[in-house]
Amino acid sequence: MEHETIETIKKGLGETREHLTQWIEVTPDSKKRVRCGSENAECVEEHLRVIDESLEMLEQGTFGICEVCHEHVDDGLLRMDYTSSVCLSHFTEAELRQLESELELSQIVQRGLLPQTAPDIPGLSIAAFSRPAQHRYRSADLDCCDCFGGPRLRP
Ligand SMILES: [Zn+2]
Repeated sequence: MEHETIETIKKGLGETREHLTQWIEVTPDSKKRVRCGSENAECVEEHLRVIDESLEMLEQGTFGICEVCHEHVDDGLLRMDYTSSVCLSHFTEAELRQLESELELSQIVQRGLLPQTAPDIPGLSIAAFSRPAQHRYRSADLDCCDCFGGPRLRP
Protein backbone atom coordinates (compact mmCIF):
# COMPACT_ATOMS: atom_id res chain seq x y z
CA MET A 1 0.00 0.00 0.00
CA GLU A 2 1.29 3.42 -0.95
CA HIS A 3 2.43 5.72 1.85
CA GLU A 4 0.21 8.46 0.39
CA THR A 5 -2.85 6.19 0.64
CA ILE A 6 -2.10 5.41 4.29
CA GLU A 7 -1.64 9.09 5.16
CA THR A 8 -4.76 10.14 3.24
CA ILE A 9 -6.93 7.49 4.91
CA LYS A 10 -5.46 8.20 8.35
CA LYS A 11 -6.10 11.95 7.97
CA GLY A 12 -9.65 11.38 6.67
CA LEU A 13 -10.51 8.98 9.50
CA GLY A 14 -9.05 11.35 12.10
CA GLU A 15 -11.16 14.24 10.76
CA THR A 16 -14.32 12.13 10.56
CA ARG A 17 -13.70 10.87 14.10
CA GLU A 18 -13.34 14.42 15.38
CA HIS A 19 -16.53 15.60 13.63
CA LEU A 20 -18.59 12.65 14.86
CA THR A 21 -17.29 13.00 18.43
CA GLN A 22 -18.16 16.71 18.42
CA TRP A 23 -21.59 15.95 16.96
CA ILE A 24 -22.32 13.45 19.76
CA GLU A 25 -21.25 15.98 22.41
CA VAL A 26 -23.07 19.09 21.18
CA THR A 27 -26.21 17.82 19.43
CA PRO A 28 -29.36 17.72 21.60
CA ASP A 29 -31.08 14.32 21.73
CA SER A 30 -34.13 15.62 19.86
CA LYS A 31 -31.97 16.67 16.89
CA LYS A 32 -30.03 13.40 17.00
CA ARG A 33 -33.33 11.55 16.52
CA VAL A 34 -34.18 13.69 13.49
CA ARG A 35 -30.73 13.35 11.93
CA CYS A 36 -30.46 9.59 12.40
CA GLY A 37 -33.92 8.88 10.94
CA SER A 38 -34.87 5.25 11.41
CA GLU A 39 -31.51 4.48 13.02
CA ASN A 40 -30.80 5.58 16.57
CA ALA A 41 -27.78 7.59 17.67
CA GLU A 42 -25.97 4.33 18.48
CA CYS A 43 -25.22 4.01 14.76
CA VAL A 44 -22.84 6.95 15.20
CA GLU A 45 -21.14 5.20 18.14
CA GLU A 46 -20.81 2.08 15.97
CA HIS A 47 -19.26 4.16 13.18
CA LEU A 48 -16.76 5.58 15.69
CA ARG A 49 -15.90 2.04 16.86
CA VAL A 50 -15.15 0.98 13.25
CA ILE A 51 -13.00 4.10 12.75
CA ASP A 52 -11.07 3.40 15.97
CA GLU A 53 -10.44 -0.20 14.89
CA SER A 54 -9.15 1.02 11.52
CA LEU A 55 -6.91 3.67 13.14
CA GLU A 56 -5.50 0.98 15.47
CA MET A 57 -4.82 -1.30 12.48
CA LEU A 58 -3.10 1.61 10.71
CA GLU A 59 -0.84 2.08 13.75
CA GLN A 60 -0.06 -1.65 13.94
CA GLY A 61 0.58 -1.96 10.20
CA THR A 62 -2.19 -4.52 9.74
CA PHE A 63 -4.55 -2.16 7.90
CA GLY A 64 -5.49 -3.22 4.37
CA ILE A 65 -4.17 -6.78 4.67
CA CYS A 66 -6.37 -9.26 2.79
CA GLU A 67 -8.03 -11.86 5.02
CA VAL A 68 -7.79 -14.47 2.24
CA CYS A 69 -4.32 -14.18 0.64
CA HIS A 70 -2.66 -11.91 3.27
CA GLU A 71 -1.42 -9.53 0.55
CA HIS A 72 -2.26 -5.83 0.48
CA VAL A 73 -5.78 -4.97 -0.65
CA ASP A 74 -5.75 -2.68 -3.70
CA ASP A 75 -5.25 1.01 -2.77
CA GLY A 76 -8.15 2.07 -4.98
CA LEU A 77 -10.53 -0.28 -3.18
CA LEU A 78 -9.33 0.95 0.23
CA ARG A 79 -9.73 4.57 -0.82
CA MET A 80 -13.30 3.74 -1.84
CA ASP A 81 -14.06 1.71 1.31
CA TYR A 82 -11.53 1.77 4.14
CA THR A 83 -13.20 -1.27 5.73
CA SER A 84 -12.34 -3.50 2.72
CA SER A 85 -10.70 -6.65 4.04
CA VAL A 86 -10.38 -8.78 0.89
CA CYS A 87 -8.95 -8.21 -2.60
CA LEU A 88 -11.35 -7.62 -5.49
CA SER A 89 -10.02 -10.84 -7.08
CA HIS A 90 -11.70 -12.89 -4.30
CA PHE A 91 -15.12 -11.37 -4.97
CA THR A 92 -17.66 -13.69 -6.58
CA GLU A 93 -19.36 -12.61 -9.82
CA ALA A 94 -22.49 -11.74 -7.81
CA GLU A 95 -20.48 -9.62 -5.34
CA LEU A 96 -18.75 -7.78 -8.20
CA ARG A 97 -22.10 -7.08 -9.86
CA GLN A 98 -23.49 -5.78 -6.55
CA LEU A 99 -20.47 -3.49 -6.06
CA GLU A 100 -20.88 -2.15 -9.61
CA SER A 101 -24.56 -1.45 -9.12
CA GLU A 102 -23.90 0.30 -5.77
CA LEU A 103 -21.33 2.53 -7.46
CA GLU A 104 -23.74 3.33 -10.30
CA LEU A 105 -26.49 4.05 -7.79
CA SER A 106 -24.30 6.42 -5.80
CA GLN A 107 -23.42 8.29 -9.01
CA ILE A 108 -27.12 8.61 -9.89
CA VAL A 109 -27.94 9.87 -6.38
CA GLN A 110 -25.05 12.34 -6.47
CA ARG A 111 -26.07 13.67 -9.89
CA GLY A 112 -29.65 14.01 -8.65
CA LEU A 113 -28.50 16.23 -5.79
CA LEU A 114 -27.02 18.80 -8.14
CA PRO A 115 -29.21 21.59 -9.50
CA GLN A 116 -30.02 20.88 -13.15
CA THR A 117 -29.94 24.55 -14.12
CA ALA A 118 -28.04 27.54 -12.76
CA PRO A 119 -30.17 29.96 -10.75
CA ASP A 120 -31.32 33.03 -12.68
CA ILE A 121 -30.38 35.99 -10.47
CA PRO A 122 -30.52 39.48 -12.00
CA GLY A 123 -27.08 41.07 -12.05
CA LEU A 124 -25.20 37.78 -11.73
CA SER A 125 -23.71 35.55 -14.41
CA ILE A 126 -23.54 32.02 -13.05
CA ALA A 127 -21.65 29.07 -14.48
CA ALA A 128 -21.33 25.69 -12.77
CA PHE A 129 -18.92 22.77 -12.96
CA SER A 130 -18.97 19.63 -10.85
CA ARG A 131 -16.14 17.20 -10.20
CA PRO A 132 -16.92 14.55 -7.56
CA ALA A 133 -14.49 14.18 -4.63
CA GLN A 134 -11.80 11.60 -5.39
CA HIS A 135 -11.46 10.19 -1.87
CA ARG A 136 -14.59 8.14 -1.59
CA TYR A 137 -13.52 6.31 1.57
CA ARG A 138 -14.96 9.11 3.68
CA SER A 139 -18.31 8.55 5.30
CA ALA A 140 -19.61 11.62 3.53
CA ASP A 141 -18.14 12.92 0.34
CA LEU A 142 -16.71 16.36 0.77
CA ASP A 143 -17.42 17.97 -2.58
CA CYS A 144 -16.75 21.68 -2.58
CA CYS A 145 -18.46 24.71 -4.01
CA ASP A 146 -16.73 28.03 -4.62
CA CYS A 147 -17.77 31.43 -5.90
CA PHE A 148 -15.43 33.59 -7.91
CA GLY A 149 -15.80 37.28 -8.60
CA GLY A 150 -15.22 38.48 -12.12
CA PRO A 151 -15.79 41.42 -14.43
CA ARG A 152 -19.38 42.50 -14.43
CA LEU A 153 -21.04 41.44 -17.68
CA ARG A 154 -23.96 43.49 -18.94
CA PRO A 155 -26.33 42.24 -21.61
ZN1 LIG B 1 -6.36 -11.22 -1.32
